Amino acid sequence: MIAESPTPLVDRVRDFIRAHVLPLEDEFDGDIERAGGDSVREKLKATAREFGVFAPHAPLDCGGLGLGMAERAGVFEEAGYSLFGPLALNIAAPDEGNMHLLDHVATPAQREAFLQPLARGVVRSAFAMTEPAPGAGSDPTALTTTATKVSAGWVVNGRKWFITGADGAGFFITMARTSGEPGSAGGVTIFLMPAETGGLEVVRHVGTVDKAMLGGHCEVSFADAFVPEENVLGGVDEGFRYAKMRLGPARMTHVMRWTGAARRAQEVAVRHVANREAFGARSVTWGWSSR
Ligand SMILES: Cc1cc2nc3c(=O)[nH]c(=O)nc-3n(C[C@H](O)[C@H](O)[C@H](O)COP(=O)(O)OP(=O)(O)OC[C@H]3O[C@@H](n4cnc5c(N)ncnc54)[C@H](O)[C@@H]3O)c2cc1C
Repeated sequence: MIAESPTPLVDRVRDFIRAHVLPLEDEFDGDIERAGGDSVREKLKATAREFGVFAPHAPLDCGGLGLGMAERAGVFEEAGYSLFGPLALNIAAPDEGNMHLLDHVATPAQREAFLQPLARGVVRSAFAMTEPAPGAGSDPTALTTTATKVSAGWVVNGRKWFITGADGAGFFITMARTSGEPGSAGGVTIFLMPAETGGLEVVRHVGTVDKAMLGGHCEVSFADAFVPEENVLGGVDEGFRYAKMRLGPARMTHVMRWTGAARRAQEVAVRHVANREAFGARSVTWGWSSR
């Protein structure tokens, strides 16, 4: 049974997910590409808008509902009840965390160029930190991708992988080393890189069990990829500070979405167990201890 919801917004999200998202997920067995990829995202976004549940976390000036962190919990949980739900509401990783970062750090021009289209669902984005060994992973200070200062900007070289949403993303939020050595606790800068940046290439999809995240989890290479000075996000060498600002709250919102997914998994399991008959009895009355 589902508990009574405390807010009309949570109720609306639940109704939207049950009526428009779950049937699609079931039909295509949780595979977003088979369901239609970006074109199905367009349809889901439009319906989410009709229900008044689109971009609940995004700032008001970017077309969102401006919910704070605590208010997001119930909404994100209901969206997470379907694997496609977060995508439909524009609260899926990595976009949701990227919006949070841009909202806090972007200049007005960057806000206009990157946050506005992301929050309004015009583009998707990617966050590029993790690298093949011996680069950044659980230890981000191992970061090896470099950004070298040139006239009017920076040139990025390196390789990333497990970059969620990379295939089809409109832009990449990329971490690269601007000073120090791999292992240094500082010296990393964040760059905003449109997907069409020369030298930026989505090389392949890394195989994972997940089929519900649009754009996969990809390997991405940077070969002399130029970033103009105005696309540096925040201060040079301040990247790890912003990464914490990005990744900390994103752990909480992952948990919100996954609470919904866990609830659904439990409901599916209970429904199955309650109806399964084997050895002449319902499984709820059957077990090693009762034999
Ligand atoms: C589905 C998926 C999506 C992802 N999306 C993104 C994304 O969008 N952007 C992005 O940048 N990254 C992404 N990642 C990468 C993710 O952030 C990394 O996998 C994570 O940081 C761990 O890094 P790693 O895989 O290199 O593991 P490792 O660094 O190799 O660590 C593996 C395990 O060993 C442990 N370990 C490592 N060293 C030690 C030690 N010295 N002592 C004890 N234990 C140790 C770690 O704690 C960890 O449990 C994604 C990963 C997955 C699986």
